[in-house]
This record gives sequence, structure tokens and C-alpha cells, in this order.
Amino acid sequence: TRDPLTGCLNRRAFFEVFEKEFIAARNRDSKISTIMCDIDHFKSINDTYGHSVGDQVIRKMAAVVTETVRENDHVCRYGGEEFCVLLPGIDMQGAYQIADRIRENIENQAAQSLKLTGGRVITASFGVSDLDAKANDLTELIDQADGALYVSKESGRNKVSLYVAPTQAEPAIASQL
Ligand code: GH3
Ligand code: MG
Ligand code: MG
Repeated sequence: TRDPLTGCLNRRAFFEVFEKEFIAARNRDSKISTIMCDIDHFKSINDTYGHSVGDQVIRKMAAVVTETVRENDHVCRYGGEEFCVLLPGIDMQGAYQIADRIRENIENQAAQSLKLTGGRVITASFGVSDLDAKANDLTELIDQADGALYVSKESGRNKVSLYVAPTQAEPAIASQL
């Protein structure tokens, strides 16, 4: 159930937990939100410092995310240097604040803790969505957060973007705070 490098939930275990939390949130009409995060220019970190330092950066990222969220939130290593967090009981605005705190902590702590040379700063980008965005299933909720993450990447990285549900008049967009 755990990813060996970081100790975070692996995808399979995460989807099991997610399914239960998603159904519970719908039945109780309670809030639930997701944060997707991805380390910025990670390929260049691997190329500059080597793969094992890259691995340490991934571990540090996992540690910062886990330390910043609450105990009943669920942190998954979703892909190579991508993490997905599920926050039961938290709406979009709450998730935004948490994501921004993670973002700040990465920027302030990650490079220093690894003593990277050349004054290099490590940052990550974030996308947030919640059940109010009317996702029909958990894949859709993750896709919405992923779409918002893409907006953060496209607009300069080291940012948090929120998924905004489409209205009849306007197509889906993501907004930044
Ligand atoms: P962006 O800012 O757009 O996210 O740029 P990026 O360089 O981070 O782009 P991308 O997400 O495509 O790169 C991810 C890289 O992460 C590619 C792969 O070589 C590396 N990677 C994936 N898994 C691991 C791992 O377990 N350890 C290490 N060291 N590198 C990994
Ligand atoms: Mg990636
Ligand atoms: Mg990346």
C-alpha cells in the first residue's frame, strides 16, 4: 500500500481510500477536495545533481507535504515527482490555503535541507479542486485538479491554481490566487 521511496500511499491504496471518502462525502453532503502537485523543472534537478539527489528531493517533497497537512488527510505518490492529496471535510478555499502553505514550505526548505550548490531553489506547482465543482467520480475530481496544475505550470510555476467549473456561458477555466 506504500511507495517504498517516500512512504506515501501508492496509487492503488490511494484509490481505495479515495473511493470510500468520495462516497462518504457525497452521502453526507460534506466537503472534500484534492490537491495535485508536481515539482518544477525536476528533469533539470536530476541532470544537474544526479538521480540520487533527485530521489532525495522527491523524499523531501513527500515529507513537506505530509508534515503540512493533517493526519486524516491522505497523501499519495501519484507519479514520479507528482503527489496527490485528498482532504476530507475541506473545501476549495481551505485546500487553496493548505496548498499555498505547502508551496511556501517547499520553496523555503527543500533546497536548503539538501544543501544544493549554486543557490538553487526548488519549487513545485499546484492545482486544487473540490466536490462543489460537481465531479461525477474521483477520476474527474483528480482530472480537474490536474487541469488547474497545468495552468500553474503554464503561467510560470511555483503557483497554486483553482479549478473553476464551467457555466453555460463560459467554458472551464482555472483561476489563480
Ligand atoms: P515541469 O516543471 O514542467 O514539471 O518540468 P519537469 O522537468 O519536472 O518535467 P517532468 O514532470 O516531465 O519530469 C519528470 C522527471 O522525473 C522525468 C523523470 O526522469 C524523473 N523521475 C521520475 N521518477 C523519478 C524517480 O523516482 N527518481 C528520480 N530521481 N527521478 C524521477
Ligand atoms: Mg511530472
Ligand atoms: Mg515536474
